[in-house]
Amino acid sequence: MKMGLYIHVPFCNSKCYYCDFLSFSNLNLQEEYKKVLRKELINYSTKIRNCKIKTIFIGGGTPTVLAPNFLREICETITKYFVLDESLEWTIEVNPNTLTNEHIEIFKNLPINRISLGLQSIFPHHLKNIGRIHTFEQWENCIEQLINAGITNINTDLMFALPNQSLEEWEQTLITVVKYPITHISAYALIIEEGTPFFRQYEKGELELIDEKLDREMYNSAKIILAEHGFNHYEISNWSKNNLECKHNLVYWNCEQYLGVGLGASGYLDGVRYTNVLDLKKYIASNGEISKIQEVIEPISPQMSMEEFMFLGLRLIDGVKFEDFEKIFGESLEKKYKFSIQKWIKQKALVKTIDGIKLTPYGIDISNQVFTSFLE
Ligand code: SF4
Repeated sequence: MKMGLYIHVPFCNSKCYYCDFLSFSNLNLQEEYKKVLRKELINYSTKIRNCKIKTIFIGGGTPTVLAPNFLREICETITKYFVLDESLEWTIEVNPNTLTNEHIEIFKNLPINRISLGLQSIFPHHLKNIGRIHTFEQWENCIEQLINAGITNINTDLMFALPNQSLEEWEQTLITVVKYPITHISAYALIIEEGTPFFRQYEKGELELIDEKLDREMYNSAKIILAEHGFNHYEISNWSKNNLECKHNLVYWNCEQYLGVGLGASGYLDGVRYTNVLDLKKYIASNGEISKIQEVIEPISPQMSMEEFMFLGLRLIDGVKFEDFEKIFGESLEKKYKFSIQKWIKQKALVKTIDGIKLTPYGIDISNQVFTSFLE
């Protein structure tokens, strides 16, 4: 059996104002963290002895804020203890101000073949306003360094619907980044998450957000501009070139199995979904023992599996296939979700394809409502 592996590195140089990811700007505990993470990885490797790892994603946080030696040790633990698939996709998230020659050497000496760069905007004032501490020029340098090192599968994360962002600025960001040799773009609208500096500002009425209409215009302009530049729109917020979709995220969207290792990481293994402890001190005290790290353990019932199949699968632009549903669950998708399907087809949010159903452009705009209707 083949599966994915996600590794969480909960450290960043500083905290972006919109970010609710589990990450800390205090790097003091990074060595202890690395030690426990390695033990946790080794413990999992004995548990899934008969599985091959087909995708790895080291994310966070910012994995490249770790001392290069620590990052190397984590990566070498993976190559030493796990069986890696021949067509492995191995991604590391990088922030443009953190990439060093030492990191590049690590990437070159290991089967790391995909880098995900967080850029968000090309404009210094937007980067500053959202708390990003890098520049567009640093992103450009990263691209050059990676290409020179032979790493050609490069994602760039962008954000739209930023406070005071104009449609022209968003389009300029897109038109600029597509000129560089990148193979993948993830573009997400800013969401105000509880517990973030942006949330507090918003509550006090100090943060002016753009309206829904402009948000949708920005999304639609991304679809047009990226299509014009050869990017294939394959998931609501993701575009790829040369068929280089993110295989790791496809593991999630296709409801396949994956290990989640590290603080707060989630995994899905043998029909059980788990989430690791969120407390860094507790994590370090676990000494890598899986039973002490997994905090929430939820067996996934067939009903829950079907719901996940629908709301994750419908994120894909090609939608879900009747045959796949029937093969997995032994019943007809059209019968199981007859009323939801009819309702959304009538409202032009879903359409039938030759072998399944998919969201329409309008369906993408109201996708959360559509997804909710598949939950019982
Ligand atoms: S770099 Fe990424 S993980 Fe770190 S604070 Fe910013 S958005 Fe969050």
